[in-house]
Amino acid sequence: GVVIKNLEVAFGSLEVLRGVNLEISPNTITALMGPSGSGKSTILRVLNRLIEIYPDARVKGDVLLDGRSIFEMDVVELRKRVQMIFQIPNPIPNLSIFENVALGLKLNRLVNGRRELFQRVKQALEKAQLWDEVKDRLNAPAGKLSGGQQQRLCIARALAFNPEVLLADEPTANLDPENTAKIEALFLELKKEMTIVLVTHYPPQAARISDYVAFLYKGQIVETGPTKEVFTNPKHELTEKYVTGRL
Ligand code: ATP
Ligand code: MG
Repeated sequence: GVVIKNLEVAFGSLEVLRGVNLEISPNTITALMGPSGSGKSTILRVLNRLIEIYPDARVKGDVLLDGRSIFEMDVVELRKRVQMIFQIPNPIPNLSIFENVALGLKLNRLVNGRRELFQRVKQALEKAQLWDEVKDRLNAPAGKLSGGQQQRLCIARALAFNPEVLLADEPTANLDPENTAKIEALFLELKKEMTIVLVTHYPPQAARISDYVAFLYKGQIVETGPTKEVFTNPKHELTEKYVTGRL
């Protein structure tokens, strides 16, 4: 699992996370909810150390992955274990569907030979429930896929690494209800094999698929707990407003 300990993040003088503590259990979906600017994406960016690409970001506190500080790990190794998908699907559009999934495996020398590469790509596309739709056009450019397919391609690209943690930053915000439902169903399957941290500012999605929620407000976790409990019996006034769509 993942343990976030006293996490503080500032950009220059702007304090964005102000002492975040959260324990994320393995094989669960934990939803990070909260208004725009509350720091949800920043938490995800810390969890795979993407935050380090911002030169003015200062990070204090710690994040443990299976008991070890992520800040003491090799960052390339960490990112194989903690994969991320984004609100706007970002496959490399001119690269083929196959190569988008294969690229990370090749660059990291994770497979031996073409047969094994093909098997790993196929397996990832199957797990992302995209294989049947693309198996006859694996060499087509990824940019030709629909938005929902592109998002599942990005999930396949992440799954190719067999990650322990999947970070998803509003992964369905740009999708129609049908594609949204597909990805929600997919996450419920995937949590059997990994831990999912889902950022959403749409409470009904958290209610539908998450096991736990953490409600973030101005860089602090105001309330956290099992999803049912937080939605039916919110302890904090701000949480109640948020889950009933009044914040
Ligand atoms: P949204 O729902 O709009 O995506 P969020 O909860 O994901 O919001 P974050 O993106 O984590 O919010 O941003 C939290 C705060 O940190 C915001 O005030 C944002 O402007 C600020 N921030 C984020 N990244 C940077 C950066 N690289 N430099 C300066 N400020 C930043
Ligand atoms: Mg965000």
